[in-house]
Amino acid sequence: MLLRLRSLGLKIIVVAILMAAAWLTRPAAPAMIAAETLKESESLKWYRGNLHTHSNWSDGDDYLEMIALWYRERGYHFLCFTDHNILANQDRWVEIEKSKGGRKAFDKLKARFPEDWVEERVKVDKTSNRSTQEVRLKRFDEVCAKLAIQDQFLLIQGEEISDKFGKLPLHLNAHNLRETLPPLGGVSVTDVIQNNVDVVMALRERTGRPMLIHLNHPNFQWGVTAEDLMPVRGENFFEVYNGHPSVWNGGDDFHASTERMWDIVNAKRLAELDLPLLYGLATDDSHSYHNIPSDGSEPGRGWVMVLASELTPASLIGALESGRFYASSGVLLENVERTASSLAVSVRPDSGETYSIEFIGTRQDFDPTSEPTMDSLGHERTGNRRYSDSIGATLKTVVGPKAVYDFRGDELYVRARITSSRRHPNSAIAGETERAWTQPIRPWVESSFPKPLLLGRQRRTPCPC
Ligand SMILES: [Zn+2]
Ligand SMILES: [Zn+2]
Repeated sequence: MLLRLRSLGLKIIVVAILMAAAWLTRPAAPAMIAAETLKESESLKWYRGNLHTHSNWSDGDDYLEMIALWYRERGYHFLCFTDHNILANQDRWVEIEKSKGGRKAFDKLKARFPEDWVEERVKVDKTSNRSTQEVRLKRFDEVCAKLAIQDQFLLIQGEEISDKFGKLPLHLNAHNLRETLPPLGGVSVTDVIQNNVDVVMALRERTGRPMLIHLNHPNFQWGVTAEDLMPVRGENFFEVYNGHPSVWNGGDDFHASTERMWDIVNAKRLAELDLPLLYGLATDDSHSYHNIPSDGSEPGRGWVMVLASELTPASLIGALESGRFYASSGVLLENVERTASSLAVSVRPDSGETYSIEFIGTRQDFDPTSEPTMDSLGHERTGNRRYSDSIGATLKTVVGPKAVYDFRGDELYVRARITSSRRHPNSAIAGETERAWTQPIRPWVESSFPKPLLLGRQRRTPCPC
């Protein structure tokens, strides 16, 4: 009898231990996860901005002030200038005829700013006796003081850190800088990216100034593969859409599209590398401002909509780091809602257009194996490896301006892509339709949109220079 009681007692203990173990390892209880909606309210507003812009401080064909006006007059709320390896923070004179944009750009500048804004001089070369007409390029702080408007239009100083590995171009945009950051190089593509990311993160840490860095156009000259990008620490943003005509957003037979790379990176980061989600941006990478529309690299093609409490770099960067934004090449969203059990998207529809909303994700039991891409002769090619369709699978498609995806419970992450029936009015690649991309979320893991990294408060001024 005593033995039987002991045996029963042991069984009860074992069952209790098993139940406790099951309780501890279960997914977070759905009831604990609050619904959260990215939607305008009294305290939050959608801000539209472009994070990739060139001027004649490097290889763009217009003046900073003309470019700022272009964006301001088209309803953008913020714009970051990102010239190649330079900040507009020094006095600089250029020959009008030889500057990118030449006489045409100069005449437009003078017509738009007829007072004494434009500074010119004639320079005489003593040996040739040749005289040239020069103009002083306005510095960022001058343009900011002239054109930024408190709470309406913010200008941010940035740089396209234009690095390389061998012949591969590796470009990263650093935002809200005060000093120029030289490209640092490295011993591999990953190392080059990591070195440049590290310096921005260290600078931010040291100064308390909010800064952001993102990887640009990975497929430009096939510079960056998913495998290169996935292990980089602190690089949590990349351009899923870049409006330049030479950046191969869509990939080719041997290279993954940027969207495919996005899914590969996130599947591997979450399942194997213990790294945070990579977020996707849309940008213009604008250089050409005088023949719009054409097939040049023109403004207005890709932007981000950021849900933030105020129009300051700190607030915008905090919102971006929380995933409180979406990328767009034309489609606008009313809201994005995540609950304990679903992700829902509502489009702000244009009359007459139809929308396809695809929920894309990778499940926990995805096939992680890959194989190299081969050329027609069977030789292994460098470039992205091929992965199974279980990465970045289309989980549900809805035709209409609203859609809800109910989590099954085994998704590593889920995101949504919204495609309009409307042709993009000035796409870099002919025939593109307008799209939007929500940021990936992790059901069952995060209780809400993630918190931003700690950011210092910044003075509320239209010129954060
Ligand atoms: Zn670039
Ligand atoms: Zn660029």
